[in-house]
Amino acid sequence: MIKEVLQETQPVFYQTLLSAFSQDKIPHAFLLTSQKGVDIHEIALFIAKCLICDQEVLACEACNDCRRIEEMNYIDLKYYNGKDESIKKRHIEQIQEEFSKSSVEGKAKIYILENIDNATPEAMNTLLKTLEEPVPGIYAILTCENMNRVLPTIISRCMVIHFRALSMKGLIDAVVAKGVKQEDANLLASIYDGAGKIIETANSELYQELKVEALNFIEDYFLKHDNLIINAQTHIFKNHKEKDEINLFLDLVMMGLRDVLYQSYGLTTLYCDHAKQFELYHQDPERLIQAIEQILYAKEQIRRNANVLLLMDSMMYHL
Ligand SMILES: [Zn+2]
Repeated sequence: MIKEVLQETQPVFYQTLLSAFSQDKIPHAFLLTSQKGVDIHEIALFIAKCLICDQEVLACEACNDCRRIEEMNYIDLKYYNGKDESIKKRHIEQIQEEFSKSSVEGKAKIYILENIDNATPEAMNTLLKTLEEPVPGIYAILTCENMNRVLPTIISRCMVIHFRALSMKGLIDAVVAKGVKQEDANLLASIYDGAGKIIETANSELYQELKVEALNFIEDYFLKHDNLIINAQTHIFKNHKEKDEINLFLDLVMMGLRDVLYQSYGLTTLYCDHAKQFELYHQDPERLIQAIEQILYAKEQIRRNANVLLLMDSMMYHL
């Protein structure tokens, strides 16, 4: 439940939202701003759920509507992420046109515009006009990293909520309090910013399977190096060919190798349940650093859409 995590980690936001919704003083536009290290997308979707859900004052996160918003599968929810391609005037006009028709779902209509600080000046002006003449039942949820790049007149029409990045420890503690095992919290907080994403991943079969594969790979790397390639080809790379899966696997392997290195300097390990096992592993620190660099290189190539399986073969020959 993201709600409970937000209540604990972003109490000011939570209380503001709760009092707006319980007093029926819901603003027609929200502007969420954050430093890096906050999963603002998760929070934007949470607000959208609050606007739609009939079950609780905020969102129940379990009903059909909440789930469809989570899956971005709710017809009256429009979404643009201006990260890779800036939001243009035509995107705003498209939303206006769609929303001028009657509601498909029979409830609020919501648009989420992320990275509004990357929108073109024309888009910002069109958006401003929309916000100046709010239509009942239509809500805007905007996000940005840099408020200085958003028109002040847009800012003044929104409820502005600033999110502070949680410290790594704060994030780990928050998800552990929600039942995630310490080791999984340590590992996943190094990969993801959002508590919701960490909890969901920790509870997924896929992650638990990839973690076992990563631990086997690490063991082979140190103790049965001759078998590393054949074991990897018959296990992990036989069953997992998707980019995201390989990426997560590589992260888990890399953190293990790093743990072994750190452990040799007397530092604590992210894989806290495997510290004893890792003590059996020895490697020249120089070679360990090279192996970590090989994995980082492979991750970068995956990001550039290289052929994953060829890349993994080449990576293993270099390890
Ligand atoms: Zn609900």
